[in-house]
Amino acid sequence: MPAAPKIVPRAAAPAPALSAAKGGASMAQKALQKLGLRRDIDLALHLPLRYEDETRITPLANARDGQMVQIEATVTASEIQLRPRRQLLVQVEDDTGSCELRFFSFYPSHQKTLAVGARLRIRGEVKGGFWGRQMMHPAFRVAGGELPAALTPVYPTTAGLPQPYLRRAVVGALSRVDLSDTLPSGCEPPVTQVYSQNGLQRLFSLREALTFLHHPTPDVALSTLEDHSHPAWQRLKAEELLAQQLSQQQSRRARDMLRAPVLRAQKAADGALPLHEQLLAVLPFSLTSAQRRVGEEIAADLARAVPMHRLLQGDVGSGKTVVSALAACLAMDAGWQCALMAPTEILAEQHFAKMIGWLEPLLAARGRRVAWLVGGQKKKERTAMLALVASGEAALVVGTHAVIQEQVQFKNLALAIIDEQHRFGVAQRLALRQKLAAGVAAGPPQGDAAPSGGSDPRSGGAWGPVVAMEPHMLMMSATPIPRTLAMSYYADLDVSVIDELPPGRTPIVTKLIADSRKDEVIARIGAQVAAGRQVYWVCPLIEESEALDLSNATATHADLSEALPGYMVGLLHSRMPTAEKKAVMALFTSGQMGVLVSTTVIEVGVDVPNASLMVIEHAERFGLSQLHQLRGRVGRGAAASACVLLYATNDSGRVGETAKERLRAMAETNDGFEIARRDLEIRGPGEFLGARQSGDALLRFADLATDTHLLEWARELAPQMLDRHPELAARHVARWLGGKSDYLKA
Ligand code: ADP
Ligand code: MG
Repeated sequence: MPAAPKIVPRAAAPAPALSAAKGGASMAQKALQKLGLRRDIDLALHLPLRYEDETRITPLANARDGQMVQIEATVTASEIQLRPRRQLLVQVEDDTGSCELRFFSFYPSHQKTLAVGARLRIRGEVKGGFWGRQMMHPAFRVAGGELPAALTPVYPTTAGLPQPYLRRAVVGALSRVDLSDTLPSGCEPPVTQVYSQNGLQRLFSLREALTFLHHPTPDVALSTLEDHSHPAWQRLKAEELLAQQLSQQQSRRARDMLRAPVLRAQKAADGALPLHEQLLAVLPFSLTSAQRRVGEEIAADLARAVPMHRLLQGDVGSGKTVVSALAACLAMDAGWQCALMAPTEILAEQHFAKMIGWLEPLLAARGRRVAWLVGGQKKKERTAMLALVASGEAALVVGTHAVIQEQVQFKNLALAIIDEQHRFGVAQRLALRQKLAAGVAAGPPQGDAAPSGGSDPRSGGAWGPVVAMEPHMLMMSATPIPRTLAMSYYADLDVSVIDELPPGRTPIVTKLIADSRKDEVIARIGAQVAAGRQVYWVCPLIEESEALDLSNATATHADLSEALPGYMVGLLHSRMPTAEKKAVMALFTSGQMGVLVSTTVIEVGVDVPNASLMVIEHAERFGLSQLHQLRGRVGRGAAASACVLLYATNDSGRVGETAKERLRAMAETNDGFEIARRDLEIRGPGEFLGARQSGDALLRFADLATDTHLLEWARELAPQMLDRHPELAARHVARWLGGKSDYLKA
């Protein structure tokens, strides 16, 4: 094993006066808390940003210009110079040469330590050569004490938490913390290199890995620490991924212990066909084979007495809504309630309109209806809706997160459908599950149309003792999640993919055009509108400035209105009152409005098949997946559609090469998965995870773009560990995740 390097107390760190130490310590304690470094294991996992090499003394004669060195030398002169500005100049020399130290800020105590005759250990960057070496503001201390055997860690820290304090805290934590192995023997991760010493090759244990990463031996190739390819790093990353997999598989198993209503297609009391067959009959199209396949996957889940947790993925326009409506039919058939939630009011309203159109006539024959719940609702309407929900008359409740607010009491909720699920926050999703559990527990289906044989598991009977109930959950996302992400962050979900677009869509042609040619683009808009088509114009996303977004959109709106006399040009942005937004959307949906200028509020969900051109200004400011989603708003009808990505050029007419390279991907492919893959490469997982990742970066060490082999290992090992080594698994999760595992499940 790599000999644990001896950690030498930093003798020369001057002991501060007692009272100061006390005040300082409590401040430092607070700073530790602030960094989330509460438990010993947290400190042990707080890894250095970089290292300083204090393990050797370099003779001055050997110090090269620009090199960071530690020297040991004696002060031969020390004076304060006032010109050109006040500074402390100190001459030092060792047996091989001399060097000048320069300090622009210093205290009397510094001068004392730097007095003539003092023997010092000095660390800094050497400038100049033999004829005049210099160090600006080097670190120094009285010489003496053993040289450390390991590199000195430099930690990420915060105000009030000095490095020496943090270093001592880490050393203390490392000496106390239990780092005994939690991997079953013979199950080591597949690290690409192994540590070798004396010709012996072996893997790093967790303790060895952490000891090494905090205090690496000076012979380490620093590049392998920087790029995290060192075997010690790989061990950590593997363990982290394993913790994530264990936690997710645990939550999946916990869910399997819960019960949910068994939902199967069934005829109505009066002998009418099952709802979902009736819906299929009234749809103006037939399902694609991908829609049929995922529909069957969902139906199979719903027919089990275990809560479904399924993510329905499908590119924009692939037709997820109708699949979710069909799933809802299965629940409503049996007299249960369904909820359909969308992240924005506009999207919720579109869903509502669609569900009303499809389902209201069918539900009316059964004495039931569709309810509508959003935040900005009038009190009277809201009260009426709440009553419908509570009585169970509302078979389907459509809305925003208002659907899960406190006052909402479901009579018997069996299925919750969440559209664009990644846009809901973690807290909202946790609240949702609690709310839903309350909803399902409320009562058996209306009229109990369920076939006999225990479709209501609360009755016990075949089910044995009464078990906790949860409704089924169907989450939908148009952001395709790359495989590695699906395997890690979403490992607790089952995933269905609609990998086929409805027929008759002409592929969208995407063009990259420099914004210097904006006039040509506006001319093209004129031609489209004149031909009776409709156009979206999406204004640039300006990070962290809604106000700027807005002024931009307003200006563009004015420009386009002027350039297109005789046509209606509308404006839509997130700060508009809801009623106004609705009015604008209605004008565009009905086809009266030719051009809709908007900030990114139209990103999700809107469905206007007659829209055939989308212009995105400052496309370089958007993520690829976001562009892809935006682009999916056109190409929904039969007409050939186009998406113009306007990119900003600088004065010399060029856009950053990487920016353009990135955008080119959009012109090259319409495949959302390919785009998502490239986005993951370029931007990391944040884009996909949304709130799932916010707050704590849940993977601190592993990188899904490079650590696939470790992820696969963890995925395979996790279920085996849960089966055969449950105590090890529990210890592993507690060590790595502490209280965070809830967030992984949200
Ligand atoms: P998304 O998956 O992006 O939510 P939608 O569910 O909004 O997509 O569907 C996009 C459009 O395609 C809608 O107008 C919808 O009615 C229509 N659609 C869905 N399925 C089919 C199909 N099988 N054939 C033709 N059109 C369909
Ligand atoms: Mg949708």
